[in-house]
Amino acid sequence: MKKEIHFEMKKKVVFCDFDGTITVNDNIIAIIKHFNPEGWEQLAEKVISTELSIRSGVSALFALLPSTMEQEVIDFGVSNAVIRDGFRSFLQYCEANDIEFYVTSGGIDFFVYPVLKPFDIPKDHIYCNGSDFSGERIAITWPHPCDGQCNNDCGMCKTTIMRRFPAEDYTRIVIGDSVTDFEGAKLADRIFSRSHLTTKCKELGLSHTEYETFHDIIEAMEKERMEQA
Ligand code: MG
Ligand code: ZN
Repeated sequence: MKKEIHFEMKKKVVFCDFDGTITVNDNIIAIIKHFNPEGWEQLAEKVISTELSIRSGVSALFALLPSTMEQEVIDFGVSNAVIRDGFRSFLQYCEANDIEFYVTSGGIDFFVYPVLKPFDIPKDHIYCNGSDFSGERIAITWPHPCDGQCNNDCGMCKTTIMRRFPAEDYTRIVIGDSVTDFEGAKLADRIFSRSHLTTKCKELGLSHTEYETFHDIIEAMEKERMEQA
């Protein structure tokens, strides 16, 4: 009997980081740096070096700020964010090519949703952390914790979300820049990286493509699409 060979096209799904990826700068760092509470630098360094988990580090950073600063913190976070070039074009590219697009962000709801508002991304395609200003200090809430397969204490667990898209059915594409992307990158079929994520990929020997703008990513994806066609 003749063996049939199937060339099944897997569906592409993009998991795109927010801070330092969709936005030019890391908003958490920018906010903390701006209000400059004592002791933030050591905490931030420990998160980048993964000495401290992202969840405990980000909790500790925001706990340095009193809840009475709510409006100031929100206003600064939203107004300070600058969108990386080509983001809108990239969303259109995904739409036109039937690529599923998710924002998987280690950022916080009070700046992630307002900054993304002009782009009409469905709310259930945006994952981020929450915030609570009802106590004395700003508290971060964690509605998307690590599942049983992740011991990284991510806070917003990107690998937990990625596992809902099995590798048999999906080509999983990670776009990111830093520590919140390290674990997801290990699972990904394709990595677009900059900054700390590039360093990490090199360290781990993960194949990756560096980008500066979303136009770079469109170009690389389009080139691959033409090669596969
Ligand atoms: Mg980031
Ligand atoms: Zn996790």
